Amino acid sequence: MIGGEKVVCQKCGNEIGREFYIDGVAFLECGGIIIRRTDANCKQCGQDFHWVITETKLQRLIKRVLDNRETYANLR
Ligand SMILES: [Zn+2]
Repeated sequence: MIGGEKVVCQKCGNEIGREFYIDGVAFLECGGIIIRRTDANCKQCGQDFHWVITETKLQRLIKRVLDNRETYANLR
């Protein structure tokens, strides 16, 4: 997993979450959850914020994460 770049509101710069990439799929991590689809608003200024990951990409992403988890478990 690479990334960790801050995702900020384009209007006021409020930090919304962090962006990560797995197999070229970008997802948004925010407060312990992975967001795949949202129509939200910046809580600081009200700016619209949209984030979408397609179903196919999400399944690939989750599979990859679970595979990695198994690999790490076997190493212990
Ligand atoms: Zn804002």
